[in-house]
Amino acid sequence: MAGASLDRGKPAFIAGHRGLVGGAVLRHFREQGFGHLLTRTSSELDLRDADAVEAFFAAERPATVVMAAAKVGGILANSTYPADFLSDNLRMQVNVLDAAARHGATHLLFLGSSCIYPKLAPQPIREDSLLTGPLEETNDAYAIAKISGVLQVQALRRQHGVHYVSAMPTNLYGPGDNFHPTHSHVLPGLIRRFHEAKEQGAASVTVWGTGTPRREFLHVDDLARACLFLLENYDDPAPINVGVGEDLPIRELAELVADVVGFEGALEFDTSKPDGTPRKLLDVGRIHDLGWKAEIGLREGLEQTYAWYVEQLAAGALRAA
Ligand code: GDP
Repeated sequence: MAGASLDRGKPAFIAGHRGLVGGAVLRHFREQGFGHLLTRTSSELDLRDADAVEAFFAAERPATVVMAAAKVGGILANSTYPADFLSDNLRMQVNVLDAAARHGATHLLFLGSSCIYPKLAPQPIREDSLLTGPLEETNDAYAIAKISGVLQVQALRRQHGVHYVSAMPTNLYGPGDNFHPTHSHVLPGLIRRFHEAKEQGAASVTVWGTGTPRREFLHVDDLARACLFLLENYDDPAPINVGVGEDLPIRELAELVADVVGFEGALEFDTSKPDGTPRKLLDVGRIHDLGWKAEIGLREGLEQTYAWYVEQLAAGALRAA
């Protein structure tokens, strides 16, 4: 179903604009002529605080909302802090989505994650495999929070007739990512480790797990384009996948990162670290049929992200890690 028309001149709230996704969405929406973009840092507006969120929506009345605020992390952070991942994400979503509907936001895009799908879903994963089997244990708390968000979008549509939609991106990367040595996702984690190994002249770099799990990586600028595309061209209760349609084993990813960074030593695999789900390649047939495709290749995206990382290091501007 085509999206109901969205007015780029009306106020649009990008929740989570300091994060990887929200930052890219903000850049893209600016470029695309949004005239009234609303942002709040977490210290200005704690989205877990229902009263504060209510007051913000009552005062600003955004017509469009991109819900890119979330507590996110890699496999280790998710399995170490499941209570925080569940509770913080549920509270932020419930507050933002309810307040959006209460205060007249006509369009909202809720961002989920490919980890909402069952651990052993047939690959590539279609949207209709949602809730057909058990989740991957390393991130089940986060996944349940995100599944609740998808259901909340559907319920708000039914009850209030709003044009709210959910997108499920695959693993993301790009400028603005979290490069924490242990709590990041694999791609920024490896960029940092290979860079430090090159600087220190180390003989080898440790990669977690067996190197055999396969993952798909989408550049966040591609996702930002998809967000606007979906707000304007998609109006359906079913979540829609956003990915590139191709994956690779972690071992190959590590080799590619080593090549881009210029690290010439050996790779070692630490099999005491979890592998997580064996594969999560998204079926992107539905978004392709609507006319959207990812454009940034992995090597090109990695080179650009590595250049950004080096620039930030030089400027002393990386988030504390
Ligand atoms: P996942 O897609 O939810 O499993 O999230 P991650 O990005 O954290 O991990 C993806 C895969 O990369 C898993 O199989 C990890 O074991 C593997 N991996 C290899 N090295 C690293 C690393 O340095 N950091 C992280 N986070 N994962 C790594």
